[in-house]
Amino acid sequence: MQLKNHSLIKNINRAKILNAIRENKPIARSQIAEKTDLDKKSITNFVNELLSEGLIEEAGKKDNASGRPFTMLEFREKYVMGIYIAPHFSRGVLMDLYGRIEASHEEEYPFYSGLDKITGAVKNIYKALSSRKQPFYGVGICMPGILDFENNTVIESVNIPGLNGINFRDVFAEFIHLPLYFEEESRSIALAEKWFGIGRNYNDFVCVEVSGGIGTGIVNNRRLFKGAGQYAGEIGHLAIEPGGKKCRCGNRGCLEAYASEKTILEYINGVCENPIDRLCYFRPGMIPQKNYNELLAETGARLGMGLSAVVNILCPKVIVLTGSVVNFFGEPLIAHIKSEMKKHCLRGSYEKTEIYISKLELIDAIGAATLPLSTLFEIPEYFYI
Ligand SMILES: [Zn+2]
Repeated sequence: MQLKNHSLIKNINRAKILNAIRENKPIARSQIAEKTDLDKKSITNFVNELLSEGLIEEAGKKDNASGRPFTMLEFREKYVMGIYIAPHFSRGVLMDLYGRIEASHEEEYPFYSGLDKITGAVKNIYKALSSRKQPFYGVGICMPGILDFENNTVIESVNIPGLNGINFRDVFAEFIHLPLYFEEESRSIALAEKWFGIGRNYNDFVCVEVSGGIGTGIVNNRRLFKGAGQYAGEIGHLAIEPGGKKCRCGNRGCLEAYASEKTILEYINGVCENPIDRLCYFRPGMIPQKNYNELLAETGARLGMGLSAVVNILCPKVIVLTGSVVNFFGEPLIAHIKSEMKKHCLRGSYEKTEIYISKLELIDAIGAATLPLSTLFEIPEYFYI
């Protein structure tokens, strides 16, 4: 790649130094040179710039067997916040610039709540977390729906109609006076995997979230694939049953109408005596084992059919599954998914795809927190970690 733009090269080199500090703190200038292949003069200039901006600080000395002791460098205390807005709750995490979680906070509300309830919850999360640590570098917010990033509006959120038509930047900037970054929920989740999960080991992977809705985040060569219209990955509205159950999007037979948390709750509440409104409140014995097995098999089969389309089209090396439904059923769900996929995938594609369950807790809010982090450590279109 020929880079003629001088400031672009400068930004990439600066990001390389910041990443060397992020991954190896505390680190000496000479060690940054080893990690980045930049010359000593450039490193001195960049480090001076970062020190004067207050982004990094000197962190004591370290013995050097062959000369003067090293002066070590690390980030100054600074934080990012990630907030995830779900159909029936919102949660936030507070992270430092190394990506370490310092605190989290969650607020619940009923499905299909109006905008006031949702913004109230986000406000409470923001207040609770910002009272824990300061200062902040930025706040990332993710939510499900078709988002128009040019106009900062929610075109449609099938599972949170209270967000429909809002200007998300205006709504949240009213009470969050910090740089704000936005992304769609499933794509944020894929970013969390890329930064902190299984996705660290793969340049290309697909992350599938199965919770209140179902969506995918597609990572291609370390960057999100969004499609021409920016809405790529809406697997939840893939028709798996022509003329089937009505979906909240208005169409019939969508995957989401068969395997989302809401559908599963409807099944459970139809069988158990004490209804629950979140899968995390389910306890063994609430429904007969026979019904549980039936629910597991049906959900796995439906998801397997949806994932077959992903595999036949994209042939990903890895699919990472996450979300409340995946956490609820755990590993046994994978067996059902795989046996259905075997029926619908081209053999060559199926055999090349590995399926894992994400190990990241709070993955959605972590994904939102990677949005402000990426403005420091990545250069859009040119440099991805
Ligand atoms: Zn649909």
